[in-house]
Amino acid sequence: MFSSLRARLWLSYALLLFVALVFSSIILIFYLPRSPLFYRQTYARFEAIQTMLLASHPELTSLPAIHALPILQDMGEIYQVRILIYDPDQKLIIDSRAGSTTPLILSRRALLARSNLIIRDETGRSWLFYISKQADGKLLLVGEVRPRIVFLAILTSEIIPPFLVAGLLALILALIVAYGLARWIANPLQTIVLASRRVPVEDSPALPLHGPREIQELTRAFNAMLGRVQATQRSQREFIANVSHELKTPLTAIQGFAQALQDGTADTEAARLQAAGVIQDEAERMNRMVIDLLDLARLDAGTLVLHKSQVDLPFLLAKIIRKFTPQAHKAGVIINLVSENDASLVGDGDRLAQVFTNLVDNALKYTLTGGRIDLLVRPVNSPFPAVEVNVTDNGPGIPLGSLPNIFNRFYQADPSRPGGKKHGAGLGLAIVKEIVAAHDGTITVRSEPGNGSTFTVTLPRTAPDAHPGLSRFKK
Ligand code: ADP
Repeated sequence: MFSSLRARLWLSYALLLFVALVFSSIILIFYLPRSPLFYRQTYARFEAIQTMLLASHPELTSLPAIHALPILQDMGEIYQVRILIYDPDQKLIIDSRAGSTTPLILSRRALLARSNLIIRDETGRSWLFYISKQADGKLLLVGEVRPRIVFLAILTSEIIPPFLVAGLLALILALIVAYGLARWIANPLQTIVLASRRVPVEDSPALPLHGPREIQELTRAFNAMLGRVQATQRSQREFIANVSHELKTPLTAIQGFAQALQDGTADTEAARLQAAGVIQDEAERMNRMVIDLLDLARLDAGTLVLHKSQVDLPFLLAKIIRKFTPQAHKAGVIINLVSENDASLVGDGDRLAQVFTNLVDNALKYTLTGGRIDLLVRPVNSPFPAVEVNVTDNGPGIPLGSLPNIFNRFYQADPSRPGGKKHGAGLGLAIVKEIVAAHDGTITVRSEPGNGSTFTVTLPRTAPDAHPGLSRFKK
C-alpha cells in the first residue's frame, strides 16, 4: 500500500512533522512555566501597586522603619502583596510580613539583575517580585507567592489548537511537495522503464535528461547501454549478411561446376580437371573461412586456451619465413629478417605463429614482383618490458580511408588493387588483433598509399596468467 515513492515520501514528511511538533510541544511545556511572559499580568499589577504606594508616599524608603512598616503592612493587606525594602547593600530593612511569613533567600546579585524576579523563600516556595531602585539607592520590592498555573488548561486551550492547525497545514503542504517531488523523480524513471520494454530497440532514440542529478546519471547510463545494444544488433545483422555473402560465392561456384560435371557440359578431360580444381579451391576457401570464424567465436567467448611457454620469436619468425620462401621466390619478393638478441617472451607459440603467418601472407599478397618484406624483432622497455615486431612491405600500401577499418571483421580494402584478387574473407587481421589482445599486446599499422605498410606488434614479455576477457564481438 505504501510501496510507491509518493506514499513513502509523504509518510516520511508526515513522520518528520509529527516528531517536530512533539518536540516543540515538549520544549514549550518545559520552558513556558518558567517564562516571565506567563506572569506578565501579575508583574504589571505589582508595578501598579508600587507606583500607587510611591505616589502617596514619595519618601517612603527614606522614612524610619518604624513609620514605614505600618504603611507597607496596610498596603500589603489591602492589595494582598508582600512589600519589602532593602538597603543599597541588599540588606533587608523592612518586610511587611516579617514574623508572619518565611524569610526570603536572596543571592547578592539577584536584586540588581532585573525588575521582574522569581525568589525562593526558606521553605522553597517561589515568589514573584517587581523591584525598583529608589533615589536614595534603596530597593523596593512588591510581590506575592507565584500563582499556580493550571497547565493542562493552558495546554488544551492555548497550545494544542494552534499546533493542530499548523500541523494540518504542514501535512497538506507536505502532501503537495511529496507529490511534486515524486513526480520529478518517478516520471523520468517511468520513461526509462517504458523505453527498456520497447522492442525492438533499433530505432529507439536516446532519452532526454530530466529529474534529479542521480536520475540524469541513470538516464545517461541507459542511453549509453542503448547505444551499445543498438551497435551489437547492427553488427550482428551485418555479420550474418557478411557470412552469407562470403559463403554464397564459393557455393555458387561449386554448384555450377558440379552441375557441369554431372550434366556433361564439362566434356573434355581438361574441362573436368578445371571443374574439379575450382571445386577444390572454393571448398578450401570455405573451409579456411569456417576455421577463421570458429577461431573468432572462441576468442570472443574467451574459451580459447593459450598454451603458454617460452617463445623464441626470432626463431619462430625464421621458421615462418622458410615456409613462405617458395611462394616468395615465385612472386619475386625478398623476405628479410633482422633480429636483436633477447627477443623471447612467454606466450602461445602456435597462436603467435598464426599472427605472423597472417601478416607475412598479407604482405606477400600485396607486394609486387621485385619488392621486399622486412621483419624486425627487438626488445623494448617502454611502457613495459616487451618485444616489438615490425612487418614492413613496399607494396601499394593501404588507402587512408581504409586504415581505421582493416582490423574489422569482413573488411576488405579495394580488391581491385594488386593482390586484391587473392583476398580472403577479411577475417585475417581481425583474428590477429584478437590473438595479440589475448597476449595483452597491441597491434598498429602505418601505411602510405604507394609506399608500403608497416604492421607493428608489441607483446609483453610475460603473458597474462588467466585468459583475459577478450573484446566481445565487434565489427
Ligand atoms: P584478407 O583475408 O581479405 O586479406 P585481412 O583481414 O587479412 O583480410 O586484411 C584486411 C584488408 O587489409 C585486406 O582486404 C587488404 O586490403 C588490407 N591489407 C592487409 N594487409 C595489407 C598489406 N600488407 N598491404 C596492403 N593492404 C593490406
